[in-house]
Amino acid sequence: MSRKPVRWAIGIDLGGSSIKGGLVGEDGRILMFNRIPVERLGEAERIIAALQHEVERLAREAANRGWEPVGVGVASPGSIESARGIIHKSPNLPHLEGYPLKDHLVRLTRLPLHLVNDANAAALGELKFGAGVDYRHFALLTLGTGIGGAIVVDGRLYQGAAGFAGEIGHMVIDPEGPACPCGNRGCLERLVGAPALLERAARLVGEARGESALGRLGKGALSVEAIAEAAQAGDVVALQVLAEMGRWLGLALISLINLLDPDCILVGGGIAQAGPPLFEAIRRTVGTHPMSGTARVVPIVTATLGPRAGAAGAGVLALWPELA
Ligand SMILES: [Zn+2]
Repeated sequence: MSRKPVRWAIGIDLGGSSIKGGLVGEDGRILMFNRIPVERLGEAERIIAALQHEVERLAREAANRGWEPVGVGVASPGSIESARGIIHKSPNLPHLEGYPLKDHLVRLTRLPLHLVNDANAAALGELKFGAGVDYRHFALLTLGTGIGGAIVVDGRLYQGAAGFAGEIGHMVIDPEGPACPCGNRGCLERLVGAPALLERAARLVGEARGESALGRLGKGALSVEAIAEAAQAGDVVALQVLAEMGRWLGLALISLINLLDPDCILVGGGIAQAGPPLFEAIRRTVGTHPMSGTARVVPIVTATLGPRAGAAGAGVLALWPELA
């Protein structure tokens, strides 16, 4: 008896600094995964050309194996109008705002195309193949330059009335906090996004007078990865930055948990690799809240797909469009 062949999709993660893509199988395999740096590609035509090149490469790889992809999924930062297949607003890809991305790629590939916000894609990837496989209700936070968010309810992505739900990074956490480009003050993203962490670390390094290894890094070498690494080695400044970050994140999670009553919270992104120093700080804050304290402890776990999450999730959407 022959087994049913695995269905495949082309999954692309279009980012501000790179295009990642792979062939995504319904069994969770991601083949021919590739990352093309597109630093400051600039105008739409060049980004589209690079994207087109990547889609064509994967279509060719699939054809060489005798596979017919069921569709193409494209994850993009910013707010997405899925139905029309355009990027509505994207600070990281301003040149593509309003570009008819879906029409263009459908003409090229003759395959169904699904455009999705990158954090939503990451949540779909984790739901099918990653840390979310055992859960039906969860929120995902991706910690990077910005703070991405996504909500999964009853095993499906929750996108809201207009498709813009899950903007966890723009929850106002500190009304006296720094101004955010969205127009509010003290959004979570402004408090724990990479620029805020680096600024805080630089200030604390100055105050630590040589006690922190971060102070011995060359100019411009301070990064969130360096902070995560230093924290694991017990660096005072790195630990302080993560403790503060964990507190802000914990405050956001208290509201999220009370609102959604999720099975778990997934946390991804480079700085999540710092592990216990960050997660313990988050749990300390969440754990002090009486509502969550008396009910049950909601697990806060690390997302597992890493840099492949966006492309994997874009492929998941092409394989199972009903999940969005
Ligand atoms: Zn904001």
